[in-house]
Amino acid sequence: MKTPPCDDAADEIPVLEFKNVSFSWPGGKGLSGVSFAVPAGQFVLISGPSGSGKSTLLRLAVRLEEPTQGEIFIHGESFKSIYPPELRTRISFVQQTPTVLPGTVRENLLMPFNLEIRKGSSIPGDDELYDWLGRLALDDVALDSEAAELSVGQRQRLCLIRSLLPKPVVICFDEPTSALDIESREKVEQIAEELAAEGVCILMVNHTNYHPACPHMLLTVSGGSVEVLL
Ligand code: ADP
Ligand code: MG
Repeated sequence: MKTPPCDDAADEIPVLEFKNVSFSWPGGKGLSGVSFAVPAGQFVLISGPSGSGKSTLLRLAVRLEEPTQGEIFIHGESFKSIYPPELRTRISFVQQTPTVLPGTVRENLLMPFNLEIRKGSSIPGDDELYDWLGRLALDDVALDSEAAELSVGQRQRLCLIRSLLPKPVVICFDEPTSALDIESREKVEQIAEELAAEGVCILMVNHTNYHPACPHMLLTVSGGSVEVLL
C-alpha cells in the first residue's frame, strides 16, 4: 500500500519554481538556463546592472512573457496548465509607474473584483479598505475621492493595496519605489517585508541601497544568466 504524502512533503513544494527557463527578445537579448525555487514566505531581492534582464525575469514570473525553453511552476503546477486569468489571481505585479483608472479610490481598489474569474468571491467592504489605507499611511484619503487627484506616492500605495486585496501568493515588485519620496518608499518596503512574514513570496527589484530587514534570498542577473545566493 502506498503511504499518503505527509504534510511536510506537501510543504516542500515550492510556491514558485523556474526550471531551466530561457527567453529571447526580438534582437537576441534575454535570459538563459534560469533555475530557482521560492518557498512560501521567501523574500527574493533581485539585483543586477541596468539592461541585464531583471524586468524580463519578473515579466516571465507573472506570465507577461512565455519562456522559449523550460517551464515555470506555481505550487508544482505548470503555468501552461493554468487558465491565465486564474494565474493572475495568484500572482500580482507592482510596477514602477502606478496605473490608476478614472474613478474613485474605492472603484480603483475594487477593480480586480470586476473580473469574471472572481464572480462570487467576497468583495472587501469599506472597513477593510480603510484598514489597508491606514496600514499604508493613507489615513487621510477618502474612498470617494478621485484616484487621479492623488500624488504619485499615494497612487503607488493605492496600486499596492489593489494588488494585495485578492490575496495573491506571489507578488512581483519592479522598482516600486524609484519614483517615490522617502516616506512612501519606506512604507512600500515595510509592507513587502510584512507580507513575506505572513507567507507571501516577494520578488523585488529595488534600488541598490535597499536591504530587506527580513531574511532573504538574492538573485543576481548578469549577462543573461541568473545566480542564486541564499
Ligand atoms: P533591466 O530590467 O535589468 O534593466 P530588462 O529586462 O528591461 O533589463 O532588459 C534586458 C534586455 O532586454 C535589454 O538589453 C533590453 O534592451 C532588452 N529588452 C527589454 N525589453 C525588450 C523588448 N520589448 N523588445 C526587445 N528587447 C527588449
Ligand atoms: Mg527593469
